[in-house]
Amino acid sequence: MTRQIIRVTQSTSKKQKPNPDELVFGRIFTDHMFIMDYCIEKGWHDPRVIPFQPLSLDPSAMTFHYGQTVFEGMKAYRTKDDKVLLFRPEKNMQRLNQSNDRLCIPPIDEELAIEALYTLIDMDRDWIPTQEGTSLYIRPFIIATEPYLGVSPSKQYQFIIILCPVGAYYKEGINPVKIAVESEYVRAVKGGTGTAKTGGNYAASLKGQEMAAEKGCAQVLWLDGVEKKYIEEVGSMNVFFKINGEVVTPALNGSILPGITRDSIIALLKHWGLPISERRISMEEVAQAYKDGTLEEAFGTGTAAVISPIGELIWNSESLIINEGKTGELAKKLYDTLTGIQTGKLEDPFGWVKEVKVHSKTIL
Ligand SMILES: *Cc1c(COP(=O)(O)O)cnc(C)c1O
Repeated sequence: MTRQIIRVTQSTSKKQKPNPDELVFGRIFTDHMFIMDYCIEKGWHDPRVIPFQPLSLDPSAMTFHYGQTVFEGMKAYRTKDDKVLLFRPEKNMQRLNQSNDRLCIPPIDEELAIEALYTLIDMDRDWIPTQEGTSLYIRPFIIATEPYLGVSPSKQYQFIIILCPVGAYYKEGINPVKIAVESEYVRAVKGGTGTAKTGGNYAASLKGQEMAAEKGCAQVLWLDGVEKKYIEEVGSMNVFFKINGEVVTPALNGSILPGITRDSIIALLKHWGLPISERRISMEEVAQAYKDGTLEEAFGTGTAAVISPIGELIWNSESLIINEGKTGELAKKLYDTLTGIQTGKLEDPFGWVKEVKVHSKTIL
C-alpha cells in the first residue's frame, strides 16, 4: 500500500478545557478528531484530522440497524518532561483488524492508523492532563454508513478516532469491588462475537449489569454461555485468580476478548518467574478454593482501570469475601508496575511504550 498523507484542518475556536480535578470518564472531547472513509471504488481513503464535530448520516445507515461496528480503547499519558506515551498501540490496531474480520469490515492499514493516532494526539496534546493517575482516553471506531436496510456487509464505512481527557480511575487508592456471578444471562458463546470489540456484545451485557447493580454489585462475573459453569470475564475486563500461589486466568477459548492488559499481565508474571496458567476454571473450583482457604486474590484487568481487585463475589446465595475485602499484594504490585511502565516512571524491559512523534502532515 502506498502511504496516504493525513490532511489536517485546524479548529479555529478552541474549547475550554475542563478542570483537571473534575474530569469524568467519556463525556468531554478534545478539539479535533480523525476521520477516514471507505467505499468499494477507492478503498480506505482521505485520512484527515478535522475539528471535533457531529456526523451527518442517513437514518438508514447500516450501523444503526444491524450493529456492524467495531471499536478500540486505549490510553495516552503525558510525562513530567512533556512526552506523550502510548502503550502497545500496534496491538490495538491489530485487534481492530481482527474485529473487522469477524464483522466483515474491510481491514485498515495498521501503520496509517498509528500515524493518524500520533497526528491527532499531537494536535490535542495540551488536552492531556498531567496530574497523577490522569490520562487521555482514545476511542478508535468504525461504523457501517451505507444507506441500505438489507442484511449484508455495508459497502461504505467511516473510521473515526476521538479523544477524551480522563481523571484518575482510583481517586482514593485502589478499591476492591463487589461482583455478582451471573447465572441467567451470558455475554458470548464460542462461534459468536465475544472475541471482537463490537457494539452488540455491550448492548447484550447491559441487562445483567443492571441486575447486578440492583444487588449492590459493581459488575457481573460472566460464565460460559453453554454450561454456565466456567468463568469467562468480569464486566468488560479479563479476570485472574490467585489460588494457592498459582495465578490462573481463563484460556482464550473463542468467546473471551483477548485483552492487551491480560497479555501484559501474563508477560509480567512470567518475567517475574511466578506460576501462571491459562486454562479453564469453573466457579465451583473458585468456591472450593475459598472454602479451603486457598483463594488468595481475584482481580479484573483492562485498559480503563488497569487492575480492578475483586473484594467479594456473590454467587447465588453465597458470599465469597476475598482477601478480607482488601487489595491483594500481587494486584497492587501488578498495578504499580504496569502503570509505572505506561507512564514512563519505570523502565520498560518489554519495548511496550511508544512515544507520540509525528513524521509528516499537511496543514491546510
Ligand atoms: C476491551 C475489553 C477487555 C480488556 O481489553 P484491554 O485490551 O486490556 O483493554 C476485556 N474484555 C472485554 C469484553 C473488553 O471489551
